Amino acid sequence: MSDIKRIAVLTSGGDAQGMNSAIRAVTYSAINAGVSVTGIYRGYEGLIDWEVKELTIDNVRNINNRGGTILYSSRSERFLDKKNREIAAKNLKDHDIDALVVIGGDGSLRGAIEFTKEDIKTICIPGTIDRDMCCTEYTLGFDTAANAAMEAIDRIRDSSVSHGRCTVVEVMGRKRGYIALWAGMATSADAIILPEKWEGDFDNVVEAINRRHVGGKNNYLVVLAEGVTDANDLANYIQKETGIESRVSVLGYIQRGGSPTAKDRMYGSLMGAYAVEILVNEGRYNRIVAIKNDILTDYAIEEALDINNNELDSFQYKLSLTLSV
Ligand code: ADP
Repeated sequence: MSDIKRIAVLTSGGDAQGMNSAIRAVTYSAINAGVSVTGIYRGYEGLIDWEVKELTIDNVRNINNRGGTILYSSRSERFLDKKNREIAAKNLKDHDIDALVVIGGDGSLRGAIEFTKEDIKTICIPGTIDRDMCCTEYTLGFDTAANAAMEAIDRIRDSSVSHGRCTVVEVMGRKRGYIALWAGMATSADAIILPEKWEGDFDNVVEAINRRHVGGKNNYLVVLAEGVTDANDLANYIQKETGIESRVSVLGYIQRGGSPTAKDRMYGSLMGAYAVEILVNEGRYNRIVAIKNDILTDYAIEEALDINNNELDSFQYKLSLTLSV
């Protein structure tokens, strides 16, 4: 018999599509195994303030198709203070929570590690549109974000064609360029600028545009991951050097909103159920749920944060270069 009688679940950091499916699957799976579920609102903020709700099958029905997270999220400055982390840990113990499920990105995982030091059994589910964790091939929210970026860029491209323009489209993914890489490849971008590969040379982009200009093309698309360089500076430079009218479009939060794709709903469900499986049925904890070779597995939470082992897929990157020649 498992000694887990009650688990808590929270979503933390940047919201990501598929988080609701994970909350739903955690709740269904836990209740099915005779375990009660406490939903914590607003991530680590709600843990400090003990802002909670009992999760039942009834209140997680029909949330698969909803964007955002029904438990809300936060970036909690207060949680970085040891005293507040102690309050959060005490709240969990005082309310007889046997284990905590944290759904979030790398910052949230760092927070989760703090709980493991307090002897709180913790399981993480990777939820971040950036797909920037080394131990897992997939993080919840990436597919919806990449599709949202692709659809927006398709629309921008239509206008770019009509006016014979160059458009620099800034997408999310500050540390990892997967949204830019996928959305850029899917929309046949003329240049894709990634944080991992950028050497600060605007002239490489100008050359790519000039090559196509000579070939008779009249519209150009540059997909830029946010934070790599200033989109306006790049567009101004392209216009100055090529004489082609160049505009900027920053996609921003539309990449986080909307209904999750089938992939995010499915992986959210699988990861949520797997979290409960290893915790309740296998008695394992302080793990992160991951996808490896398209199969569910789990690792020590620390392994997900090994930045030295977090390279962009080299085959995908090389293909992006081949396809934009
Ligand atoms: P994400 O989880 O999407 O990466 P953040 O980086 O904002 O989002 O992290 C979410 C929250 O996790 C932060 O607001 C903070 O409360 C907590 N956190 C981040 N880094 C640490 C850390 N080194 N130690 C403890 N808690 C952290």
